[in-house]
Amino acid sequence: MEKGKSYRVLLYYHYVHMEDPEGYAKEHLQYCKDLGIKGRILVAHEGINGTLSGTIEQTDAYMEKMRQDPRFKDIVFKMDLHDGHAFKKMHVRHRPELVTLRLEDDINPLEQTGKHLKPVEFYEAMQDENTIVIDARNDYEYDLGHFRGAVRPDIRTFRELPEWIRENEEILKDKKILAYCTGGIRCEKFTGWLKREGHEDVNQLHGGIVTYGYDPEVQGELWDGKCYVFDERISVPVNRKEHVIVGADYFDGTPCERYVNCANPECNKQILCSEENEHKYMRGCTHECRVHPRNLYIKEHNLSEEEVNHRLKVIQEEERLNNQAM
Ligand SMILES: [Zn+2]
Repeated sequence: MEKGKSYRVLLYYHYVHMEDPEGYAKEHLQYCKDLGIKGRILVAHEGINGTLSGTIEQTDAYMEKMRQDPRFKDIVFKMDLHDGHAFKKMHVRHRPELVTLRLEDDINPLEQTGKHLKPVEFYEAMQDENTIVIDARNDYEYDLGHFRGAVRPDIRTFRELPEWIRENEEILKDKKILAYCTGGIRCEKFTGWLKREGHEDVNQLHGGIVTYGYDPEVQGELWDGKCYVFDERISVPVNRKEHVIVGADYFDGTPCERYVNCANPECNKQILCSEENEHKYMRGCTHECRVHPRNLYIKEHNLSEEEVNHRLKVIQEEERLNNQAM
């Protein structure tokens, strides 16, 4: 075990019919609280999806308890070591579906889904000329890291993906399609939908990016950047052989892998930004966000009006010079 890392972060999903998801969610929340773990779990008629953190002992107990339930006996847990909790609270929520694709007709991945490829199979298939690799995540996730050469659908969120695919059918024509996402859950539905749309050679990365990074054979090869995760860590490494930074600073375009949220709480946009630029731009993604009356950066740093005006002037002056240079 890595020194100082006595906590684990678990990530899992399991599609299985749940009779009473609402009742289960309540009961499960109590169990998790009693155990002392923290995280976010969704329960729906179509199954369960969770990410949580706890000590080695707590997470061992959790996995054992889950596998004792006949519905979840085949559940696969992805595990990461960490130096503490990766969540502040424990939530178990009942939802109509585990992932939102907004389809007219929902897909049941137990009935229809793409072929599951092991990391090494995915790695080999990626290098075939006749292959197209599609990132089935949100745009800001792609921007921090992705498979080399993967298509970045021009969408803000995953639920816009089907529409984008329909508008860009020609890029998929006669291709072997490979789809991937963080832990695999989004691709179960997305590739099922692709098959229903009539695409034939549809494949998904089994276990997602997280599993790919830990696979002893591929060791994350052909992944560039880092993998965005939905907990306090924000990102995790994937490629154990080489590290290529693909993220770019929102303000100056220099290589960057540091995510912050815009300090305007009404905007909250996620941007990649260096510490230096965070201070310079008062963590505001636009001028409006910088001068917003609720700007959190200004509050956190107790900036005087004078100081705020000074920084705005520096930015303005620089923009003026840049425009002249053009
Ligand atoms: Zn903003």
